[in-house]
Amino acid sequence: MMNQTAYALGANRSCIRELFEYGRARAQIVGEENVFDYSLGNPSLPAPQAVEDTIRAILEDTDPLKIHGYTSAVGDLETRAAISQELNTRYGVCTNPTDFFIGGGAAGELCAVFGALAQGEILAIAPYFPEYKPFAESAGLTFRVVPPDLPTFQINFEALEASITPNTQALILNSPNNPSGVVYTRKTLEQLADLLTRKSQEYAHPIYIVSDEPYRELAYGVEVPFVPSIYRDTVVCYSYSKSLSLPGERIGYVYVPQEATDSKQLYAAIAGAARARGHVCAPSLWQKVIARCADLRPDLDFYDRNRSLLCQALGEMGYEMAKPDGAFYLFIKAPGSSAKAFSDRAKEKDLLLVPGDDFGCPGYFRICYCVSPDMIRRSLPIFRELIEQ
Ligand code: PLP
Repeated sequence: MMNQTAYALGANRSCIRELFEYGRARAQIVGEENVFDYSLGNPSLPAPQAVEDTIRAILEDTDPLKIHGYTSAVGDLETRAAISQELNTRYGVCTNPTDFFIGGGAAGELCAVFGALAQGEILAIAPYFPEYKPFAESAGLTFRVVPPDLPTFQINFEALEASITPNTQALILNSPNNPSGVVYTRKTLEQLADLLTRKSQEYAHPIYIVSDEPYRELAYGVEVPFVPSIYRDTVVCYSYSKSLSLPGERIGYVYVPQEATDSKQLYAAIAGAARARGHVCAPSLWQKVIARCADLRPDLDFYDRNRSLLCQALGEMGYEMAKPDGAFYLFIKAPGSSAKAFSDRAKEKDLLLVPGDDFGCPGYFRICYCVSPDMIRRSLPIFRELIEQ
């Protein structure tokens, strides 16, 4: 006998992975250059040269036993100090190294944070990263979706307020957002903080924000406010997967501000939930890299050029989307009645677009533009054909 929920999660690939695998198989048949794969958010920029140089330096100047040995379960103090220092300088905040738990990327960190919360409901604002649902449900939480604010994809406050109940433990926030590319403005976040403060008081327990921030560094000329500075009951799940193009290395951190309600207990519960999931001691070499590279930023020009190219070309063709100020996704209104039908039509032409249903937004499709500009240019006639059909 086996756990049927786990079986279903393992046996059925996500719609994104399904399309990606389909693209790989098609490439074998029609040739790599004839598949226009916009499915998967795998950074198309290499990690910065400084990361490569740092790895070499660590291999040369550090005792191998230390490079490859276990670190403290919650992460090397040196790494936590470097991250703390970097945030303090950048945002004028006052974090301490001991506020940080070094994790293996946002996915595992979210699971640990969800596992640390009291049983109850967790809210996600549509459109949302589909993995939130299994992460939350496997932690025993009830996953509830707040309908989107159309067409801006900021926050629909009326719908959010109606979704909060005495059982609401937390709200997942993801800005810059996957899949919409939208960045929540400071004004939106302040309004959110007011609402959650009011509701926390009304229900006499904190409603935490779990701020999922793999795309924090990927913003094109707009501010990405530091959420804990606006709402103190915030737990940040950060990842270097996208910012430093290290998705395969599994490194990031959880930040629990000391100002958060029950912060010490919450931190311990996160460490405990990670422990219960077997997530202790993030990859040691990568912790050492981050200790030396905590202030590195990606070169955004490449993504920004792709973004401009697509927004302009697709906009001129008549495709509609919210303003994509961050991450590397566009979330576009599907012409016709169904995004799935549109995606299927595109798939027939080897153009791979993810329908928005799994993101909680039927009627939209997602494009991931960490692809080559050449692929974008060659795919544009297909987009035109599809909208003119
Ligand atoms: N959260 C969002 C919104 C994402 O898009 C992703 C990955 O694509 C993750 C979390 C997981 O990222 P990580 O590689 O850090 O586990």
